[in-house]
Parts: sequence; structure tokens; C-alpha cells
Amino acid sequence: MLDSTISLLREHERFFLITHLGPDGDGLGSQIALGRFLEKLGKQVAMINADDPPYNLTWLPGIDDIESFDGSVAQHEALAESDLVIILDTNGEERLGKLGSMIRDSTADTLLVDHHREPERWFDHFCVRESAAATGQLVYELIHGIDPDLIDTPIATALYTAIMTDTGSFRYSSVTPEVHRIVADILERGSVQPAPIHERIYDRKSMNGLRLLGRMLNRIQLRYDGRVAYSVVTQRMVRETGASWNDKDGFVNYVLSIEGVKAALLFSEVDDGSKISFRSEAEVAVDEWARHFDGGGHRNASGAYVKGEFEEVIERVIEAAPEYIDLGHDPTVADRLTEEDAAYLETLLKTKKDNS
Ligand code: 5GP
Ligand code: MN
Repeated sequence: MLDSTISLLREHERFFLITHLGPDGDGLGSQIALGRFLEKLGKQVAMINADDPPYNLTWLPGIDDIESFDGSVAQHEALAESDLVIILDTNGEERLGKLGSMIRDSTADTLLVDHHREPERWFDHFCVRESAAATGQLVYELIHGIDPDLIDTPIATALYTAIMTDTGSFRYSSVTPEVHRIVADILERGSVQPAPIHERIYDRKSMNGLRLLGRMLNRIQLRYDGRVAYSVVTQRMVRETGASWNDKDGFVNYVLSIEGVKAALLFSEVDDGSKISFRSEAEVAVDEWARHFDGGGHRNASGAYVKGEFEEVIERVIEAAPEYIDLGHDPTVADRLTEEDAAYLETLLKTKKDNS
């Protein structure tokens, strides 16, 4: 797979690179690293996404080389003139926004470089490994297979950002010794300091964003004996706190961090329904659940966008939980009696004994 992809990269000259709607560290980091690397090989590269980068990634070296889609003639030309379109960190047409159908219909070959489950089948070439910790890991392996000496500080920073953000700072079950070896090589080659990168991404929250977090925490609900938890971010909460929409990124992890909770959901209110984030502990898979609602993603981190009245969507999705996740049976919760119940039972047994 890597070898055939490397041949594709070598053979083509004009590339068009794109990542998903609401681009994240892995999408943008992979795009910047691969784009810059291809340019260093003397190739022509255009990078256009449907959405702008989030505020906490605008500092990434090379981010200005990525354009946001504006429908201009120049951008249409960039796509029309490319001979290989590379789709990074997502595997579906809809996740590319307005560019999705244009790319699918384009005459250029398409190459998917991704680590999500169940890719759509319309791509011409696939460089897909579900077990990869990040798309950035695959990009590293491709670069490594061609010329690792071309890894400079911007490429290393982009790759480190990709892998660090998609592994929850190296703590998800996707992290292996190999991932740490790759990251060590990236840090060394690019003379990259990890601490400032982490600070720029995670320690720049606004006070209003934290107020929104407070409101979200207050609205957490537990279901299924505390094994499923969810909360909401409504448009009203965002407005009243003065936060911005992207401030909710990462909130769902607080919901999952509750002891006993196996799966956590965050419902974010949009005009015609809800954007949903699904997260789960390692042994519980949530991607089927998300896929049932036309979403997708990874085993432990998925997402979906469901239309309908907000409260009704929440009920519908939460009600479906037992069909898609194994809620198990924990006798310490289900069979534990309250003190009141235990006292009642004791009297009952005593009465029975006295009567016999
Ligand atoms: P998040 O909850 O951070 O938005 O997304 C978590 C994961 O689910 C990401 O890996 C992303 O690719 C996937 N995901 C999020 N939203 C959607 C969606 O609407 N459709 C699909 N297919 N995947 C999504
Ligand atoms: Mn990813």
C-alpha cells in the first residue's frame, strides 16, 4: 500500500490537497506536511479546504498556503489542472463540503490517505490503515519512504501536531511503541519543542469559552445506570456566554471522564438539528452507533449530523444506545440495594419468618 502510494506521488506533478469540513490538527497537519514535502520534491501543489482553520491552529507554519474555498475561477482552475487529488483524514464526499461533488466529478485521479473505517468506494487509489493513530502517521511513513531528510521544522511541526492532537496527546488505544518512535524521529529531525505546540493548541481558551464549559458541565445527564452520559451546547448557551462555536471542541472528553461512563455524547444545536460527538472508553465501540445516524469515524471517537427538532434528536439517539453499544452488566451497580430497600427487605423477611 505504501509502495504503490509512493509511486503515485513520484509519478504525478500537479497535486490538489484537501481535508475535511471543520478541519482539525490531523487534517491540517497532514495537509501542510504532505503539501510542503511535495513542493520540496519540485511538484506543483494547491491546497484548498471548504472551511477555515480553527483559531488555535492558525499559528501553524505553512497554514497560509491553504486557501478556503470561495468558488473563484482560479480555484476551479487549480482543481481542473491537477493530475492527482489527495483527500486527507476523511473518507466521504459529504465531509468535503462544497468541494465534494467537484472532486468526485473531476477528471484527475483521486487518492485517499486516511485512517477512518469504511471508506466510500469512489476513490481511484487508497492509502488507508484503520489502525494508524493519525493520518499524519501515514503521511510520515510516505515521506519516510521517499526522502526523510526533507523533513524540516515546518513539516515536523505539522506532523507532530497531527499525531499529538489525534491521539489525545498520546493516550488513546491507537498509540503504540511505533507511534512513539515515529514522533521521536519527527522531533529530532525538525528540532521541534513539543511544549509550546501543546500550549498554543490547548492553553489559549477564552474566558467566555470556559463559561460555556461551565454551562455544559451543569447540564450533563447520566443514563443506563451511569454508563452513558451526554450533555448539550445550545445556540442560546453560546450566545449568552459570548463564547464562539468552536469553543465546544474537546468538551465531550469531560463527559467521558466521569467514572463509570463508557460512552459520552455531546449534542450541539444547529439550525436544523444537532451535530453530535460520540466518545467511548477503549473496550466500547461507538462508530456503528454514529453510522446508524449517517455519521461515522473511529471506534472510540465518532461524529454525526442529525436533522430534526433538537430535543427529539437527543432522545432518538440516546434511546438507540443499547442497539449499538454493549452496556454490559455491572452487578455492583444494578444489584446494589439502597439502605432503605435493604431495611425494608429485612423487615419483610422477618415478618415472613415470624408468620411461619
Ligand atoms: P468530532 O466529534 O471531534 O467532531 O469528530 C470525531 C470523529 O468523528 C472525527 O474523526 C470525524 O472524522 C468523525 N466525524 C465527525 N463528524 C462526522 C460526520 O458528520 N460524519 C462522519 N462520517 N464522520 C464524522
Ligand atoms: Mn485523523
